[in-house]
Amino acid sequence: MKDETKCIRSGYKPKNGEPGVMPIVQSTTYVFDTAEKIGELFNFPNEHMYSRFSNPTVDCVEKKIADLEGGVGAMCTSSGQMASLMSVLNLAQAGDSIISASAIYGGTVNLFAVTLKKLGIECIFVDQDADEEEIDKCFKDNTRLVFGETLANPALSVFDIEKFAKIAHKHGVPLIVDNTFATPILCKPIKFGADVVVHSTTKYMDGHAVQGGGVIVDGGTFDWSNGKFPELVEPDESYHGFVYTEKFGKAAYIGKARMQLMRDFGAYPAANSAFLLNLGLETLAVRMERYCKNAYTVAQFLKSHPAVETVRYPGLEGDKYHEAAKKYLPNGSSGVISIDIKGGRKPAEIFMDSLNMASREVHVADIRTCVLHPASMTHRQLTDEQLTAAGINAGMVRLSVGLENCEDIIEDLDQALNKALR
Ligand SMILES: *Cc1c(COP(=O)(O)O)cnc(C)c1O
Repeated sequence: MKDETKCIRSGYKPKNGEPGVMPIVQSTTYVFDTAEKIGELFNFPNEHMYSRFSNPTVDCVEKKIADLEGGVGAMCTSSGQMASLMSVLNLAQAGDSIISASAIYGGTVNLFAVTLKKLGIECIFVDQDADEEEIDKCFKDNTRLVFGETLANPALSVFDIEKFAKIAHKHGVPLIVDNTFATPILCKPIKFGADVVVHSTTKYMDGHAVQGGGVIVDGGTFDWSNGKFPELVEPDESYHGFVYTEKFGKAAYIGKARMQLMRDFGAYPAANSAFLLNLGLETLAVRMERYCKNAYTVAQFLKSHPAVETVRYPGLEGDKYHEAAKKYLPNGSSGVISIDIKGGRKPAEIFMDSLNMASREVHVADIRTCVLHPASMTHRQLTDEQLTAAGINAGMVRLSVGLENCEDIIEDLDQALNKALR
C-alpha cells in the first residue's frame, strides 16, 4: 500500500460485522477465562492485559504509524517528550553517555542536557554539519546511541541521516531520529539507516491541536547481539527472565520499552486520545501535501519582503539545506518556516503582535497558521550559547503555515511585516 492508503487503511482492520470505524476501547482491564491463561500472557504478552502499557485502540494507531514509517513495531506515549526520553532510557542508564546533534527541539535539549544529567546520563552535543572525524571524537566506551532530528525545530536544518547512521553503526550503536516535522509522509528515516524513529504526534500527525502524544517506532534493523547491549539479549530478571531478542525477534527494542519502561512509568495515552490521533492520521498524507505547497509559496513571498532578513526553508532554492532537502525531503519541507525579522527582538515582537489572523501560540504544525518567537517564548530558558547552537537568534520567528487559503495567509503576514518595518 502507498502512504495515502496506509493512512486510511492500516492499523484497524474490521472483521465481519465489526464497526467500520476504529472503536474506542475505554477499558483499563481485560478479562480471561482462566488464571492459567493470564499466567501465559506473562510469558508471552500477545494480548492486552492492562491499559497502563497496552490498549486495543492505541494498538491500532501504533500499527498504523509503524507501517507508515516502515518499522516492525511502535509504542505510543503520552507526549513527544516521553517518546524521546523512553527511546534513550531503553538503552542508556546512569554512567552511560549519548551523542546528540545540537540543532534539535529546545525541549529535547533541556531533557538531554539537564534531566538526563540528573539521572547520570551524559549527553555530548555535536554540530550536525561536522565532519566524520570530529563526530568520531564524541564516542566513548559508554556511548549507547546517537540522536538527531530530521528537520530541526526551529532551526530547520536537515539532518544527514545516512552520514550519522554510518558513523553510529561503525561504533556499534543505533541511530534514533526525531521525525516530527517531516512525518513519514515526507521522510522515512529507517530507509536511510535510522534504527529507531520518535515523534511528537502532537504536531502534524494529530494536526488539529486536540491532544498531545508521542510515539517510538522500532525499525527492527539494529543487531543487538554485538556485545554492547546485554539488556536485550540476556534474561531480564525483572521480567520473568525474558530475553527480548528471543521473545520479540526483530521488535526486541520496542518490546523491551513496553515491558520495562511503560510497565514501570505508565505514560501511555488514553484510548480516546488515540482515537483522535487516528482521525488526524487518516488525512496526514493529504494535509502534508498542502502544507508544503502553502509554505513554499509563503517562503517565496517572505524572501522578497523588505522587513525580512533571512528565510530558512529547506525547500527554497538557495537555502543552506536545499541539497539535503532534495535528498531527504523530495516532496516538500513541511509547513514550518523560520524567519529573522530585520532589527532583531523588538521588530519581531511588533510583527507578532500585529498579526490579525495567524495565532500567537506555543504550538506548531497545526491546521491553523501560527507563529512563535522562540527567544522570548519556548527557548527562553536556554543560554545564548545554547540558542546559537540550536540555530536561533533574537529576531527569529517560527512560522507554521496552516491550511487556510494561501492568499489570506500572505495578506496577514504582509500587513504585520509592514508594521515591523516602521
Ligand atoms: C514538540 C516537539 C517535541 C516534544 O513533543 P511534545 O508532544 O510537546 O511533548 C519533540 N520533538 C519535536 C521536534 C517537537 O517539535
